[in-house]
Amino acid sequence: METGKLKEKIKKVYKALKRTYPTPYNPNRPPLEEAIFTVLSQNTTDKNALKCLENLKKLTGGKLLKLKALNEEEIIKAVKPCGMFNQKLKAIKELVKNWNWLEPKLKELPDKEAIELLKSFPYIGPKSARVILTFGFGKNAFPIDTHCKRVLKRLGIFPENWKSEEISKFMEENFSGDFNRELHYNLIRLGREICKARKPVCSKCPLKELCKYYREKEGATPSPL
Ligand code: SF4
Repeated sequence: METGKLKEKIKKVYKALKRTYPTPYNPNRPPLEEAIFTVLSQNTTDKNALKCLENLKKLTGGKLLKLKALNEEEIIKAVKPCGMFNQKLKAIKELVKNWNWLEPKLKELPDKEAIELLKSFPYIGPKSARVILTFGFGKNAFPIDTHCKRVLKRLGIFPENWKSEEISKFMEENFSGDFNRELHYNLIRLGREICKARKPVCSKCPLKELCKYYREKEGATPSPL
């Protein structure tokens, strides 16, 4: 598909979502806190992850770098409600151990190299690396979680054979960091509230005019996109 047409479609989706969700999500956490929250939120709800983050902040008096000095049992107890605690313990320990050089390095590196560096840490995959960089460092990254993936697939905007990594890279090469951050999170909001996994509530969806799944289901006339 021609890049120009694809970009136009994406802009239409962005604008329709912006009308529904006018206020951009801004967690406003310091970078290390955002990195630890991202690890904690893997395969669990934000509510659980926030609870565990608060546990860790209590343990360290709000200074998460102090996790370096704590014993594993204390950290495990704090992160257990999030599940996969051995994995999360290892990921968090590596981050805090290296944070003094890692934080300035991530700030200074170009976006693509920062993603690769974070991916070299244990249990930090492409999605987590991008979440940390966009929300913690203001970098240009387009993370694709399960909600984004499902909504994008149903919308049918990108060629079917494109994998998440290809979509993320296309977005990062063609749109700004602010645009990508907002679109990413608004796709999550839509996925949680309307375009649910089992039963999407298409009648309430601001994207139905732009959606392939809806057109096919309803036998509706194709949108002018
Ligand atoms: S129209 Fe339906 S399937 Fe398409 S994005 Fe909206 S809720 Fe999801």
